[in-house]
Amino acid sequence: MKSLEFEIDDSVLEKINRLTRKPLTKDKLYCFPLVLCDNEADRDNEYFTPAALEKLAELFVGKTGVFDHDASGRNQTARIFDTELIKDESALTSLGEPLISLTARAYMVRTAHNRDLIDEIDAGIKKEVSVSCSVAKKVCSICGKDVYSDRCAHAKGRKYNGKKCVHALEEPLDAYEWSFVAVPAQKNAGVKKSCTYISEKNTQPQADEKLLKEYRELTDRLFDRARALWNAAGMDKALADITLGVLSPPQLLDMEDRLRKKLSNPGIAQTAAADNKNINYKLDNERKMKI
Ligand SMILES: [Zn+2]
Repeated sequence: MKSLEFEIDDSVLEKINRLTRKPLTKDKLYCFPLVLCDNEADRDNEYFTPAALEKLAELFVGKTGVFDHDASGRNQTARIFDTELIKDESALTSLGEPLISLTARAYMVRTAHNRDLIDEIDAGIKKEVSVSCSVAKKVCSICGKDVYSDRCAHAKGRKYNGKKCVHALEEPLDAYEWSFVAVPAQKNAGVKKSCTYISEKNTQPQADEKLLKEYRELTDRLFDRARALWNAAGMDKALADITLGVLSPPQLLDMEDRLRKKLSNPGIAQTAAADNKNINYKLDNERKMKI
């Protein structure tokens, strides 16, 4: 990727001063570039689509970030005044797409307190950025369904016919904040992302509350179904809540499929036949209603 370094020229000043109450002069400012996120799947097996990155580029302008480093950095904040998507045709993501990075430029007002921090950034410390935002959709790479509103039976991170299930984060609703963790440069070159899905904090409470409510209802319903199958399959009832209680809807559906397979095994099916028949009847009815 091309160098992100830049000079504080008039166009930079103009962009910064759009966000400040009093115009700031070049000598009062410290600016630095950062990469907020990209379209590569992260450790949570989630990635932003190019369209989502475009929306986030708009949403992150003006957003404040905090330094999460040590006591000297904790109270320091910086603000993003400009964003840019940079496409790198020579670098492909694990999905085979050209890498697109959402880069940003941030400023801080120079004070006696942040001198050390600025020196550290200048010295080339690694900048690990973590961003928080909310998205309206998470789409499964295997079936293409929104994991929150449609029935998707795939567990994120698991492979299906050799293809890993990852979730595409789509339709960002808002960007909240970013934090800047400064760690020694040797550990890893460049910047790294850690994207968080936060649905509780949303500037569109109506849409989000509805989404959250649906999500919880779905989880509850799937949990009840999986527990009924769990019991029918003769599994240890005491472990049902502990095991199933932590699963997400796709994982619950995956568990459901596995329990169904277990129940279709004749040896087990005989002992649980009556229960199973009952549950299948109920599930079929519920499925019909949903369709
Ligand atoms: Zn799926």
